[in-house]
Amino acid sequence: MKQPPSSVRSLPAQEALYQRQSPAVAERFARIHAREVVLELRQLGKTFSTASGDTEALRGIDFMVHRREFVCVIGPSGCGKSTLIRILAGLEKASSGQVLLDGAPVTGPGHDRGMVFQGYSLFPWLTVKGNVMFGPQVAGSSRTMAEGHAREWLELVGLTKFADAYPHQLSGGMRQRVAIARALANQPRILLMDEPFGALDTQTRARMQKHLLDIWRNIDITVLFITHDLEEAVYLADRILVLKAHPGEVQEIIEVPVPRPRSAAQMTGPEFQATKARIEELIHPPRADSAEQESDALPMIRLTDVADNVE
Ligand code: ADP
Repeated sequence: MKQPPSSVRSLPAQEALYQRQSPAVAERFARIHAREVVLELRQLGKTFSTASGDTEALRGIDFMVHRREFVCVIGPSGCGKSTLIRILAGLEKASSGQVLLDGAPVTGPGHDRGMVFQGYSLFPWLTVKGNVMFGPQVAGSSRTMAEGHAREWLELVGLTKFADAYPHQLSGGMRQRVAIARALANQPRILLMDEPFGALDTQTRARMQKHLLDIWRNIDITVLFITHDLEEAVYLADRILVLKAHPGEVQEIIEVPVPRPRSAAQMTGPEFQATKARIEELIHPPRADSAEQESDALPMIRLTDVADNVE
C-alpha cells in the first residue's frame, strides 16, 4: 500500500473499510498516478498580516494532482480553502512554497486555469454564446472560430437551444452550466471550482454533479473542486484532500474507494458510507471534553407564560 505523506496524521494500524479498494479501483488509481502531474503544491504557506496580528491560513501544503484526476478539497470553515483556490488562480500570492502548473511556477492569473465560482460570474449583457466566446476572442481567436467552438462547448453542457438567451433568462443550474462552458472554452489545463453548486437547490445540485462527471469523463480536463459537502466530495472525487484549520494543513488524503462510473445508488453502499464517516470524523472529531461541549450550549430564555410543555 502507498505510504501517506509525513504531514498526514498516522492512520490506524488496521486497514479501515474506507481504505479497502477493489482490484478495479486499485488499478484505476495506479493508472491515475502513472499520469503526468498537472498541478503541484510544494510546501505552500500563506500568512495574512493584519493590524490585529498574523493569521496563518495555510501551512506546508504538499500535494500533486495528476492529469484527468478529479480532486475535492474539504475542511472546516477557516481551513484555508478559499485562500488556497485564490493562490492557485493567481489572485493571491503565497507567503512560502510554490505552485507549479505543468512544472512552471504560477505567478498570476492565466488562461491555463479555468475558474467556476458559486456566484454567477457571467456577463449579463452578453448572450450565452457571447459569454462562452468572450475568453477565446480576447485571447485572439477570430469571431468565426470562437463561435464554432462555443457551439461545441454549449452542446457538451446541453445548452445548444439557449445559445441566444441572456443569463437572466436561465435557471441557476443552467447559468452554472454556461459558467462551466465558458471556463472550458479557454482550454485550461485545470478547472478550479469553488463551491460551484453551493447556491443551488438539492435536486438541481444533484443533477449538476452528475452532469459535471459526464463532462469530465468526455474531455481531457483535470478538476480541483472545493466543497464543504461531504457527500458531494465522495460522489465526485478520485481523491479528497482533507484540510484542518488554524493553521490550514493537510490532515489526510483519501483515495475514494467507490468505483466509477458513479451513481446516486452507490451513496448508501458501504464504501461510500465508510468514506463519508471518515471525513466526518476528521472534520468534526468527537469531543473528549464534555464540559467544553456543555459550555457551547446556548442559554435559553423562556418567552411564554403558558405552563404546559409542547414536547
Ligand atoms: P475557508 O475558505 O476554508 O473558510 P479562508 O481561506 O477563507 O478559509 O480563511 C482561512 C483563514 O485565513 C481564516 O482564519 C481567515 O480568517 C483568514 N483570512 C482569509 N483571508 C484573509 C485576509 N484577506 N486577511 C486576513 N485574514 C484572512
